[in-house]
Amino acid sequence: MRVLGPTELVEHVHKRGLCVGCGACVGLCPYFLNYKGRTVQLFPCTLIQGHCFAACPKAEVDLDEISRHHRQRPYNGAPMGDVEEAFAAKAGPKMPAGSFQGGGVVSALLIYALQEGLIKAAILTGKDENGPTPRIASHPEEILECATSKFTVAPTLAAFNRAVSEQISPLGVVGTPCQMTAVAKWRTNPLNRDAFADPVALTIGVFCNWGLDQRQLHSFLAERMDLSRIRGMDIPPPPANVLVVDLGKETITLPLDEIKPFIPETCHLCPDMTSEWADLSVGMLEGRPGWNTLLVRTQRGKDLAAGATAAGLLKTDPVPESNLVHLGEAAKSKQKRAFMNMNKRGLLNASDKNGTALLRVPPDVVRSILEA
Ligand SMILES: Cc1cc2nc3c(=O)[nH]c(=O)nc-3n(C[C@H](O)[C@H](O)[C@H](O)COP(=O)(O)OP(=O)(O)OC[C@H]3O[C@@H](n4cnc5c(N)ncnc54)[C@H](O)[C@@H]3O)c2cc1C
Repeated sequence: MRVLGPTELVEHVHKRGLCVGCGACVGLCPYFLNYKGRTVQLFPCTLIQGHCFAACPKAEVDLDEISRHHRQRPYNGAPMGDVEEAFAAKAGPKMPAGSFQGGGVVSALLIYALQEGLIKAAILTGKDENGPTPRIASHPEEILECATSKFTVAPTLAAFNRAVSEQISPLGVVGTPCQMTAVAKWRTNPLNRDAFADPVALTIGVFCNWGLDQRQLHSFLAERMDLSRIRGMDIPPPPANVLVVDLGKETITLPLDEIKPFIPETCHLCPDMTSEWADLSVGMLEGRPGWNTLLVRTQRGKDLAAGATAAGLLKTDPVPESNLVHLGEAAKSKQKRAFMNMNKRGLLNASDKNGTALLRVPPDVVRSILEA
């Protein structure tokens, strides 16, 4: 993996509008900060190579290296990545009550992992009056506090950096596809440090087509409602085409077309819809409210799902084939669109004058994706 320094991170990622604000460069040093979704560098730094660049999911992400490291095979461009098992799932009868985005599968898996000592803490996304906040959760109550989706891009990985510096391990990490890519890249030890020890024991990715810019969304909503009344949000599956804001006693439904301008351009360059580098991935289950789609990708994921089911924290059903077909089509469409957009901007393999790509992918795989 090619690793440069903070100067290149600012020049090639921030100034090209590629930063998604995932938090991977925040909290490593005093220089990078995230405020209301925007990551900035306070002062210049002359390091030639930095952890900030090494973990960035928008700088020199070599998918073949990530695949060989985490999947022990070359990258093949499968739109949903490796899927060992797929389930319809929801929290089981032993799960404490909570307010979940879908079936509460993410929270149930985490509570089981904590209970069994498989992880000491989880890196999650909570919220306060300023928006989504990075959290280190080491008790089931904290996992429940972080449940539900915040549809704005979040600096979650700042909490990962804090946990690593505080030597908290083993860790579970929950995040969007860009965040899962950052963690997968970081875990390949791109700086080739002899003392590197991987603190991550579990990764759970959520499905994501795009996130929203926090400041733009909040200004838009502030004109229509009292922000302090917002309990949660939902984007029901197509053809609904709306954002539903839950205000407790009432809900407000807003056309998605009015919200879509708040999608950062960098989300349109992301090829991953289902968080392919995670151990398990979770999304909504179309046609069955209150249930999730659960994709199991690794042996660790299999063991966790089986253990959580046996413990009564998770309930699974077979997932209808038609749901998987539809999910596969959506993932393929996102992947192809992103590859076309990256290609157009010269960010795919091709180097700009400084030689930085967003993504490095074997040329035959690029061809097969663009021609699919
Ligand atoms: C920005 C975004 C876009 C999404 N788009 C889709 C989609 O297109 N299709 C689909 O099927 N599903 C999508 N999801 C996933 C979906 O909303 C649920 O998160 C998922 O189904 C898990 O549900 P659950 O009931 O198991 O989650 P819960 O048990 O309620 O747990 C939710 C978990 O998500 C984490 N989280 C919340 N907000 C964020 C955030 N902004 N960034 C990182 N982690 C976060 C929390 O830490 C929490 O652990 C999206 C999620 C997000 C955050």
